[in-house]
Amino acid sequence: MKVIEHIERATGPMVSVEIIPPRRGGSAQKIHQAIESLQPFNPPFIDVTSHSAEIIWEEMSDGSFKKRIKRKSPGTFGLCAAIKYKYNIDPVPHILCAGFTREETEDALIELNYLGIENILAIKGDAKYRKPIAADRSVNNYASDLVSQVNRMNQGKYLDELIDVTPTEFCIGVAAYPEKHFESPNKKFDVSILKKKQDLGAHYAVTQMFFNNEHYYEYVRQAREAGITIPIIPGLKILTSKSQLSSIPRAFHVDIPEEITEKMLAAKTREEEVKVGIEWALKQSVDLLEKGINNLHYYVMQNTSPFTTLMEHLKARAL
Ligand code: FAD
Repeated sequence: MKVIEHIERATGPMVSVEIIPPRRGGSAQKIHQAIESLQPFNPPFIDVTSHSAEIIWEEMSDGSFKKRIKRKSPGTFGLCAAIKYKYNIDPVPHILCAGFTREETEDALIELNYLGIENILAIKGDAKYRKPIAADRSVNNYASDLVSQVNRMNQGKYLDELIDVTPTEFCIGVAAYPEKHFESPNKKFDVSILKKKQDLGAHYAVTQMFFNNEHYYEYVRQAREAGITIPIIPGLKILTSKSQLSSIPRAFHVDIPEEITEKMLAAKTREEEVKVGIEWALKQSVDLLEKGINNLHYYVMQNTSPFTTLMEHLKARAL
């Protein structure tokens, strides 16, 4: 089923998650165990991240360095197929602009269509390596270009003019940034980019993680004012360690409020750090639910244990 249909048909709170495929060569069993631990909470859909190739410098025995280009965490589509057919949950593969030509993207979308996967999240992707593109190939520079490509396929318009085509029917999700994307010059411009993605065919948006709900409420207010009508699903992350107080703002360009920073710094053990993170996420989740936001999305990645503990608390409190 499409994400947008899940949202429209929901009669109560709905909790979805995002996971990351294992590192190249990592255990498939572990990720299956992770998905199994999520099953009791009935996620209507599970997002699976995608990663473009990056440059890795390998030290040789003579002390020199050899450049290698590889995708550290491949396997998004295989994992999505398992989520759909083994666990009967709708998967949402992330499709990137970065590192892929439009021709490769079209082929990937055909694969997903044949697999019966109905949703995709169209994003720019973190480009860690710029693949040289052959002269006869084209690229999507921005997520809006990618949305447009998928939407055209939904209308039966492929890159080449074809006869006897069957349109795809993808439900298209996009990224949104309550604290603005770090490359956007200002919040107004950032909101206008989401509007553009909506106008080109996006059906819903999922936000970057935020730790202060006021950012989300204000962003949604500005988005609605700008004519954005698609659902904007809040993305939440459970902090689990002191080190994330600096690594998360560095990687995701988001603020961490003083209150949780102080509590995290005061934690004496790793268990206490996790507890502080879960309590904060619980507070955020309850507040969102109380304000009538029924679709919550959690960045679980591979460690599902803090999420399952949070869900137990949330079930007792609000769900
Ligand atoms: P865009 O919407 O293209 O925006 C990127 C920047 O370009 C913004 O600053 C925007 O203002 C600007 N811009 C956009 N269009 C134009 C235009 N026409 N003219 C001028 N400026 C423009 N990364 C991964 O590598 N893999 C993942 O699986 C992944 N999943 C994610 C899931 C979610 C929910 C979110 C929020 C992010 C995810 N990311 C992922 C990170 C994402 O790839 C980065 O945040 C990326 O830098 C931006 O992606 P975007 O789709 O928002 O890009």
